[in-house]
Amino acid sequence: MSDVRDLHIIVVGCGMGGLGCALSLAKNGFKNVHVYENAPGLGFVGAGIQMAPNMARILDRLGCWDAIEKEATNVKETSIRQGSTNEELAHVQMPDIRAKYGYPHCTGHRASLAGEMYNGCKNEPGIRFHFGTTLVSVDSFSPKAKVTMKPLNGPDFAVEADVVIGGDGIKSITRDSMLSRLGLKAEEFETGQAAYRIMLTREQMSTDPELLALLDSDLVVRWIGEQRHIIAYPVANKTIYNLSSAQPDTKFAAAPTATWTTFGSKEAMLEVYGDFCPLVHKMLGMVPEGEVCEWRLRQHKPLPTWVHGGVALLGDACHPTLPHLSQGAAMAIEDGAVIAEVLGRARSADPAEVHRCLKVYELLRKERTSELVDLAYQSGRALHLGEGKAKEERDKQFAAFKENKASIPDKWASPDVQNMIYSHDCVAHARQNFDDLYKSIAAKL
Ligand SMILES: Cc1cc2nc3c(=O)[nH]c(=O)nc-3n(C[C@H](O)[C@H](O)[C@H](O)COP(=O)(O)OP(=O)(O)OC[C@H]3O[C@@H](n4cnc5c(N)ncnc54)[C@H](O)[C@@H]3O)c2cc1C
Repeated sequence: MSDVRDLHIIVVGCGMGGLGCALSLAKNGFKNVHVYENAPGLGFVGAGIQMAPNMARILDRLGCWDAIEKEATNVKETSIRQGSTNEELAHVQMPDIRAKYGYPHCTGHRASLAGEMYNGCKNEPGIRFHFGTTLVSVDSFSPKAKVTMKPLNGPDFAVEADVVIGGDGIKSITRDSMLSRLGLKAEEFETGQAAYRIMLTREQMSTDPELLALLDSDLVVRWIGEQRHIIAYPVANKTIYNLSSAQPDTKFAAAPTATWTTFGSKEAMLEVYGDFCPLVHKMLGMVPEGEVCEWRLRQHKPLPTWVHGGVALLGDACHPTLPHLSQGAAMAIEDGAVIAEVLGRARSADPAEVHRCLKVYELLRKERTSELVDLAYQSGRALHLGEGKAKEERDKQFAAFKENKASIPDKWASPDVQNMIYSHDCVAHARQNFDDLYKSIAAKL
């Protein structure tokens, strides 16, 4: 095979990163992309997601942003409030995000984001989906990659490919196979945090003017308290109000091998947020019994490598993050776009050349993703302070921010941090730096 665009590429996982990667590859002319997903279909968690301009920029190039934006909320302001009193600690106006970065900051439904990427993929003859098929192991990494797959009904089978992209999320088998082959291990960074995710419908909120005002706004609100917070915003053409929280993990810590997503108890949730204000309580109280979902929030120390032979990792498989910066899916989609860009620059389909380009991808992405993962962690620490000197200091900073005299402790709302994150064009960055990084790897080989 001489044309790199004929490479047989397997993408494991049909999550945000896998879908974005497959579509980016097809848009870059790759003709033989196979996506394997263990779920029987495109089942997506009913939850909202923040879509920052750096994500929107890629989705627009992939041709799916317009449809997503149509039903998204264009966020114009954000309010950070004391959870116990609803008192506003800071208010950040964001009227100029589109003017500054070319794209707005939006909130939307995950099904809309994933669904539009999937529709884009279905229009590409170079992409084939294999639902209900689970990656069991990566058995060989070079010169060809070999994997074992397990279909829902049927015996395991082996597949050989030139490239395997592990977009199989936090519990990545691709990552475990790679690290174990190299005699390495992923080191988990204990976050001690878990999250509830809640969606309230317009119907549920319709009789309460205070709640309707939130649903009809272009506002993201964060209520903060000791070791806990809740972030909320409207999605899906303002038909749904999405709440997501972070609080100490008691359930999963006690059962570390259990599944990391589970139904939670409404009673426990109300207790955790017991000292939050009546407005928050009103919303939590509306969640039907049996519909409280709880997630364990995970983070890893930076992995020693993301690439081995023709196999590479992306998204949560290699840099799982706390959600406090709302950048996990954005980073996963960025990763996919950069993978397509570097593979498109390979001078041949030779396995050593493919490996070298994948290494360039890792170099292009590792520093930035590590920085954002760390920032999300730091932001969580500042938000979750309990009574004491540190909290007094933080609240002084919030007050000084109101007077334009300090940076805001909530990094996600900080105009400076937003500038660093939102102005980043990962594809332009890859194009600018590819040659130098490519040469630096040659020197090491
Ligand atoms: C509470 C919360 C709020 C968040 N809010 C935001 C936000 O506002 N903005 C944002 O950008 N990010 C947010 N994130 C982060 C974001 O959801 C993740 O970072 C992102 O979904 C990761 O994408 P991924 O494709 O790497 O993994 P995933 O989305 O987890 O996808 C992995 C896919 O691989 C499949 N899979 C797994 N194992 C196998 C296997 N062995 N074989 C085949 N298929 C397999 C899975 O079924 C899944 O479809 C949030 C996360 C949480 C927990």
